[in-house]
Order: sequence, then C-alpha cells, then structure tokens
Amino acid sequence: ASKIIGLTGGIGSGKTTVAKFIEEFGFPVYYSDDRAKDIVNDDEDLKIKIKELLGSDAYDKDGIYDRKFVAAKVFNDKELLQSLNQIIHPAVRLDFEDWVKKQTKYLVFKETALLFELKLHKQCYRSVLVTAEDNLRIKRVMDRDGKTYREVQSVMEKQMPEKEKIKLANCIIYNNTNLDDLKDQTERIVFEIE
Ligand code: ATP
Repeated sequence: ASKIIGLTGGIGSGKTTVAKFIEEFGFPVYYSDDRAKDIVNDDEDLKIKIKELLGSDAYDKDGIYDRKFVAAKVFNDKELLQSLNQIIHPAVRLDFEDWVKKQTKYLVFKETALLFELKLHKQCYRSVLVTAEDNLRIKRVMDRDGKTYREVQSVMEKQMPEKEKIKLANCIIYNNTNLDDLKDQTERIVFEIE
C-alpha cells in the first residue's frame, strides 16, 4: 500500500503550488477541496443526506449543487454548517480511501487545509506544513483573488494558529521567498521521506 503524506497550510500559504510541484516530481496528489466540490454532485448517498439537512433547494432543477443557496442558508448558522460538514467530510474521507487504493506509487499526497483540524494527520505517515509570514500570505491572496487585506485577514483569523500547526507537522516548508526556493524545498522533502 502507498504511504500517505498529508499536505497542509493556511490560506495563501502556497500548499496548492507545492502540490503542483509534487505532481511534477511524479507523485499523485489528492485535492480534498476540489474533490469535495465534485462529490456533492456525484455521490448519490451524499446528495440525499444534504437534501435531508438543507431541503431539496440545495440542488437546482438540473440536480446541481446550489453553492449560493447553501452558503446563504448556513451563513450565521454555525450548527447547520457543522451538520453539513459532518456529512461532507466523511464522504470526502471515503472518496479518498477509494482513490488511495487505485494508486501505485509508494508515496501519495493528500492536500487539505484541514489536516490538523480534522485530525486527518493521524491517518498519515507524515505531515507536511507549508507556512509563510502573514503579510506575504495576505498579499498573495489579494493578488490572486482580488480580495481586500481585511477580507483575507478575517479568514486567516478563523484558521488554526500557525504556532499550533508547526508543533503538529513533521516537515515544514517556509514559503517566504520565491517559487524556485519553494520548489527546491519541496523536492528535498519529497525525496527525503522514506
Ligand atoms: P488557499 O488555501 O487560499 O487556496 P494555497 O495555500 O493553496 O491557498 P496557493 O494558491 O498555492 O496557496 O498560493 C497563493 C498565491 O500565492 C498563488 O497565487 C501563488 O501563485 C502565489 N505564491 C505562492 N508561493 C509564492 C512564492 N513563493 N512567490 C510568489 N508567489 C507565490
């Protein structure tokens, strides 16, 4: 069986960029967020559960997940959001398990912002954290998404503090300089895992 390496980082840390480098080095990466977006449309059991929780309007007339409706419905309703996550997260976990079984490389990577929050690192052989100074992360997301400083900062404040993540991670990539440096660090870490 493949060894699973968890890859994580907060908003704008550069985890997706690192994941792309990892793919360039020949290792498969499971993108949890992207998969979650697909399975709300593809997984029939999950669809039923979501409709039970949020009503049939969670899906439009073509049976496609209505992201705006759901966002509005769970906005300011922490419990409902939690219930929704309690349905979606296990479905992603199962989808990941199916995916892993199909992999043939000795190492596979699972990219997720919530590795430590959901305690997924406990199912991993190693965990890799991508981190960078707050200001750099904010600036990068502002450039990428056209968000304001304050908007990015408020997302960041809701995430697990870097200090705690640093304590839990096995390997840390400091993304404070340029992309060449980021790629070099990624290469070193990937090929040093044994
Ligand atoms: P999110 O959780 O918000 O999706 P992320 O952790 O996946 O963020 P990326 O999307 O990889 O982060 O990086 C954020 C932005 O910063 C991207 O536009 C990326 O191209 C850019 N970036 C990342 N690292 C660097 C770097 N070292 N130098 C310059 N730009 C960078």
